[in-house]
Amino acid sequence: MKMKEEKAVVVFSGGQDSTTCLFWAKQQFGAVEAVTFDYGQRHRREIEVAQAIAAELGVRHTVLDMSLLGQLAPNALTRDDIAIEQKEGELPTTFVDGRNLLFLSFAAVLAKQRGARHIVTGVCETDFSGYPDCRDVFIKSLNVTLNLAMDYEFVIHTPLMWLTKAETWQLADELGALEFIRTKTLTCYNGIIADGCGECPACVLRKRGLDDYLREKAGVERP
Ligand code: ZN
Repeated sequence: MKMKEEKAVVVFSGGQDSTTCLFWAKQQFGAVEAVTFDYGQRHRREIEVAQAIAAELGVRHTVLDMSLLGQLAPNALTRDDIAIEQKEGELPTTFVDGRNLLFLSFAAVLAKQRGARHIVTGVCETDFSGYPDCRDVFIKSLNVTLNLAMDYEFVIHTPLMWLTKAETWQLADELGALEFIRTKTLTCYNGIIADGCGECPACVLRKRGLDDYLREKAGVERP
């Protein structure tokens, strides 16, 4: 069966990466829906941004309560009293144990209910965050586990896995979504939409990637 005739569920946070994945999935699959996890993010705005984007793109959207995760694994994304930092040889305080394992497992349960075997996630190994559950080997391992667990042929797609941030912006541009993603998504750890606060690690990474891509594009287009 061609992908165009199949359904996909996109793990969607309303940020740059997962919104790029949502546009990518809409191009690849006949039917697409999005699932967002509420795990007690400090910035409630994330959920509202995700809802607004899904509505604008006409995508069915489910928000699942995963607040238990924030309680079990205190982290800088859910707690005001934990600073965003990375000590030498340690994972950043923005890492949440088990997050992608749980999110993708719940996304798979939802996908099977909807008759969708494709799951799309914006995880990426090249952005140097060092999150173990963003690695390709983890995704492949989980794909096998989910198929065995539910006796179903899931395919987990990771269109951003090997892309730099500049290349993710390029993909957004190729999908005709550069301005949309630039102005309507929320990546900033301080909860500010679009270009964000400009200072947190997420904003710095996003801006550097955009600047690199736009510089490259201008160079290519110059006669
Ligand atoms: Zn920021």
